[in-house]
Amino acid sequence: MSEVTISEAEYLRLKAKAGELKAPNPTQCRESGHVWKFVGGANAGCCEDCACSASVNQCIVCGACDYGENEETSDIIANCADREEMEYQRSVEAQEPHP
Ligand SMILES: [Zn+2]
Ligand SMILES: [Zn+2]
Repeated sequence: MSEVTISEAEYLRLKAKAGELKAPNPTQCRESGHVWKFVGGANAGCCEDCACSASVNQCIVCGACDYGENEETSDIIANCADREEMEYQRSVEAQEPHP
């Protein structure tokens, strides 16, 4: 038997996937003045091969979680260096096909 350690953020994501968390509403939370805390990092999901990390935040009042879906993550995805490089590689290969 091996023990698997996952982060709190990953735990919350899995719980949500299993339907054990009710759908959160981060926007409403923030408008109500709830305090959010940083619970960990998750894959930003910009592309398959990069290791960009998005910060996941959870509401300490009602337990809602943004799963890294926030403005900061949008910026990270928009500025992903790995993705730019891969897109560049792809365009170079498209222009100069190997003989
Ligand atoms: Zn809340
Ligand atoms: Zn990335």
